[in-house]
Amino acid sequence: EAITVQELSKRMGEKGADLVKTLFKMDMMVTVNQTIDADTAELLVEEFGHIVKRVSEADVEIDTNKDVDPEETLKPRAPVVTIMGHVDHGKTSLLDALRGTDVVAGEAGGITQHIGAYKVTTKDGAEITFLDTPGHEAFTEMRARGANVTDIVILVVAADDGLMPQTIEAINHTKAAGVPMIVAINKIDKDGANPQKIRERLLEHEVIVEAMSGDVQDVEVSALKKLNLDKLLDAIALQAELLELKANPDRAAEGTVVEAKLDKGRGPVATILVNRGTLKVGDVFVVGTESGKVRALIDDKGKQVKTAGPASPVEVLGLSGVPSAGETLSVVENEARAREVASYRQEQATSRRTAIAPANLDTMFSALADKAKVIEYPVVVKADVQGSVEAIVNALNKISTDDIKVRVLHSGVGAITESDVTLASASNAPIIGFNVRPNPKARQLVAREKTRLKYFDVIYDLTDDIRKEMAGELGPEF
Ligand code: GDP
Repeated sequence: EAITVQELSKRMGEKGADLVKTLFKMDMMVTVNQTIDADTAELLVEEFGHIVKRVSEADVEIDTNKDVDPEETLKPRAPVVTIMGHVDHGKTSLLDALRGTDVVAGEAGGITQHIGAYKVTTKDGAEITFLDTPGHEAFTEMRARGANVTDIVILVVAADDGLMPQTIEAINHTKAAGVPMIVAINKIDKDGANPQKIRERLLEHEVIVEAMSGDVQDVEVSALKKLNLDKLLDAIALQAELLELKANPDRAAEGTVVEAKLDKGRGPVATILVNRGTLKVGDVFVVGTESGKVRALIDDKGKQVKTAGPASPVEVLGLSGVPSAGETLSVVENEARAREVASYRQEQATSRRTAIAPANLDTMFSALADKAKVIEYPVVVKADVQGSVEAIVNALNKISTDDIKVRVLHSGVGAITESDVTLASASNAPIIGFNVRPNPKARQLVAREKTRLKYFDVIYDLTDDIRKEMAGELGPEF
């Protein structure tokens, strides 16, 4: 691909003459009417401090933001629910118990298939889709890839154990995503269960349940004894109604990869959660850098189906390779087109590693200024001791102004973990490490996600640095 200097200057909002001058400095003698190749254009754009965003024909045509479905084509769809909470609080047990409430499973006589998500039909006829991978890591990892598939989060808290570190992480990840939450107070069958204490402790984390005059629904359950599961399903149905979830079922399908693997007998298999449209056997598609043609669709009951509509999870056979969780599947017109888009993306994936600059304050300001509200400066804070965490959070809150506010997405004691990195990168936030460093796994992820890390050992230095960033005194960082 190539572009004329003139066209590029228009798109950058810079003078053509300035571009020519800069090109001259780069030892390239061109005039405004001449064309330069994409790599040169990229260098030039970066030279001017802009962010590079290459758009090609191949991508434009499946740019999902551009073809919004008209209101009249939208039909109600099932909510997609993720279960989060501390280890051993009963996430897996609850997922199994809820699955057992499905009134359709029995009739169909199918065998439970763990494909990464399942759909339940309640006795009132409401449909609910549950993501089968509990925990906030998967949730935030998907979000970091731009896949916001979860409509509702169920926060499981064991009534005999209380709020634990991962409970608090889950709360913070949910809030950062802006997804509504329902609290399931689990293990109420146990001696020593104290649901009221949980409600009170939740207040400290600004989760105000209905019993405490807030608007977060809370349900006391026992996953083991299967108590109050119907109440939890009702709470989900009610929350879903408030959200007025809709999608157009009558169009080329689009979905998100929930899980993917290489199966010995069946080849590459991906579980797709359909976002909109209806996926059909025979459809030609692109998913990430892979393409394919739907050879078979298998639902969560192990049954072969011909189609899968919005909010339905389904295993897809017929892929060229194994895609990654969080990637989007799009149905396209024909195989040539599918291959074209896939190979284009493969190229992009290689060049992207160098081309995309991490978000900096400039882009954040312009993005948020559009919305004309108080600008938030998100951060993740990790420190060596609890006293420091509290002191830092307090100090950060104090440097907020009327125009820009620090928003602590998550804070905690200990090394910087993978979970911190996924959370930070999903929100384009820097991680502040006070006397702590990332663990080895987090380090790898930091390199991949290009997350910004800031280390301090004096609180004053920390607030000083952040205040400067907030005031825009520091230039774009790379
Ligand atoms: P996860 O780590 O959050 O997925 O938790 P699990 O579902 O694996 O449950 C951890 C343990 O708690 C298991 O031994 C479960 O049998 C037990 N458990 C889960 N739910 C309940 C419950 O409602 N009551 C009781 N008494 N035990 C439960």
